[in-house]
Amino acid sequence: MGLLDGKTALIFGVANKRSIAWGIAQAFHREGARIGLSYAGEVLERRVFPLAESIGCDFVEPCDVTRDEDIEAVARKAEARFGKIDILVHSIAFANRDELGGPFYETTREGFRMALDISAYSFVALARAFQPLLNEGGAMLSMTFSDGATRVAPHYNVMGVAKAALEAVTRYLAYDFGAQGVRVNAISAGPIRTLAAAGVSGFKKMHKAFTSFAPLHQPVTIEDVGDAAVFLCSDMASKITGQILFVDSGYTIMGVPVSEEEG
Ligand code: NAD
Repeated sequence: MGLLDGKTALIFGVANKRSIAWGIAQAFHREGARIGLSYAGEVLERRVFPLAESIGCDFVEPCDVTRDEDIEAVARKAEARFGKIDILVHSIAFANRDELGGPFYETTREGFRMALDISAYSFVALARAFQPLLNEGGAMLSMTFSDGATRVAPHYNVMGVAKAALEAVTRYLAYDFGAQGVRVNAISAGPIRTLAAAGVSGFKKMHKAFTSFAPLHQPVTIEDVGDAAVFLCSDMASKITGQILFVDSGYTIMGVPVSEEEG
């Protein structure tokens, strides 16, 4: 018996086998969910199709979330294929590499607009498109990095601002969808080496410091995030909505980070 038996999940944001969305897709598959995947454009197609195949998923649709027509097209196809769905996962972020290093005040108007559009507004757009398709008892999930949203993570810059917006979006959606019996939560994951993370300058250093300071001293994996996502999207979390669940080896509880090695 899987925790997601009988549920249908649409997961946005698989780029490759390192993607957090892929960790979630695998965990959902293990727990019995029927899965649909969406990815961003042709370049990723040849990576995403074999992954989808390996979990028996044959709903794999492109969608650039900056285009409303793409979002509508996926929603129409999902309705045609599945009728209703139970789970929607937003695991998408983007900012220009230039904006993820150097002083934050150098952020351009266009860079700011794009980062907020792709990384935060798109969750609103997806929620709107899929609202009629979501079953009562369903769940939506977004991925944040709260250490960069509510505090300062050097170089995270405009992405920190986008995550602050995404966290607020998550709460407002939780309010809206409450009446429909659909829950909306976020996971704040510790740093994981993925394609998106590679764009943040100094990421390696941050990853190392994080592991050293976190109470568990263990790096977070996409499998860890996948397991937490199963919980939040399953009936086990049926009264949890509008929350941010930290999957970060405990890093966030530290007021004064002190590395074990340094003593
Ligand atoms: P990733 O690069 O594997 O995933 C990011 C995804 O965003 C990719 O699939 C990419 O195709 C997609 N994307 C970018 N622009 C898009 C667009 N216009 N339309 C549709 N999709 C688009 O990296 P990841 O680390 O797995 O990131 C997934 C989520 O997890 C992001 O929201 C990220 O901010 C968040 N997160 C990552 C970390 C980390 O350390 N890796 C930590 C906390 C939160």
